[in-house]
Amino acid sequence: DDSEGEAEEYLFKVVIIGDSAVGKSNLLSRYARNEFNLHSKATIGVEFQTQSMDIDGKEVKAQIWDTAGQERFRAVTSAYYRGAFGALLVYDISRRSTFENVGRWLQELNTHSDTTVAKMLVGNKCDLDNIREVPVEEGKALAEAESMFFMETSALDATNVETAFEIVIKEIYSNVS
Ligand code: GDP
Ligand code: MG
Repeated sequence: DDSEGEAEEYLFKVVIIGDSAVGKSNLLSRYARNEFNLHSKATIGVEFQTQSMDIDGKEVKAQIWDTAGQERFRAVTSAYYRGAFGALLVYDISRRSTFENVGRWLQELNTHSDTTVAKMLVGNKCDLDNIREVPVEEGKALAEAESMFFMETSALDATNVETAFEIVIKEIYSNVS
């Protein structure tokens, strides 16, 4: 703690979860580095990026964790979730099965978290509207039913990516301050 009266520091852990290939790694690389990879390969092991934003004149840092391929083997460990104050639950709007699995991810998140977690349901790949398998309304309805924020994003064309992360980070900030 800051017994010497220095500026307060905020560092929040945020996790990204969801089925393989829904675009989790690209959402993070778009947000943290403004990069997108058409053929991103899964690397094994946990990775995170730290990103800062300004809220009420305070520097708030988010340490954003990416499963880095573990989800392929259903091997996302409790260490991954530990200490998370925010989560992005991602599905692919062009692959219905990834939406149907959101419930499983939500359950896993709830099992592993011992605090209030700010949650955003993310329908990624909204640039693929022509092959959409999940209507926007269904995403919205699920999010409402489970008290999550909701946003459709595209890591490819950057639609709503920054907004999605920032809503979660602002919500965490307002939960703790
Ligand atoms: P992850 O397994 O959830 O981390 O998914 P990746 O980020 O590795 O992305 C899986 C594949 O989907 C890659 O070929 C990406 O290029 C592609 N992808 C990711 N985000 C988008 C998006 O918003 N739109 C489109 N069209 N493709 C995307
Ligand atoms: Mg990945």
